[in-house]
Amino acid sequence: MAGAAGGGRKARLSKPLSKEQGICILCGEEREGAPAVADFVISSARKLRAVLRLPQRHTVCCPSCMEECARRRAGYERKLRNYKLWAGVFFALVVASSFAFSNAFPWVLLPAAMGAIIILALPNFYYFPAFEG
Ligand SMILES: [Zn+2]
Repeated sequence: MAGAAGGGRKARLSKPLSKEQGICILCGEEREGAPAVADFVISSARKLRAVLRLPQRHTVCCPSCMEECARRRAGYERKLRNYKLWAGVFFALVVASSFAFSNAFPWVLLPAAMGAIIILALPNFYYFPAFEG
């Protein structure tokens, strides 16, 4: 299993920079560019378009927008990391304060976890896909 996955990765790396015809995510023009990595959001959007019988279109990043795309992706990834940290801090603070002020410890886990999940979901408002190449 691991060997097969490793082989797949090697095959992908040896491929030259992939170019695809599609709609640029930034300038919205139909151009040839690096395709978006099919992560959860991208593949869900494709499934949704298939269900709605909309024409499939590829999201790409054209060469002139490459720098801005990389910058936005980096910003999104930084937010993901930061919000993970904040969710952990929030959870720890709520649980710690319940220890300090009351003995309702088991009951505080639910709101603490829900708050942490909401914090974890926030950066997805800033979602920006990664691009191959
Ligand atoms: Zn563009």
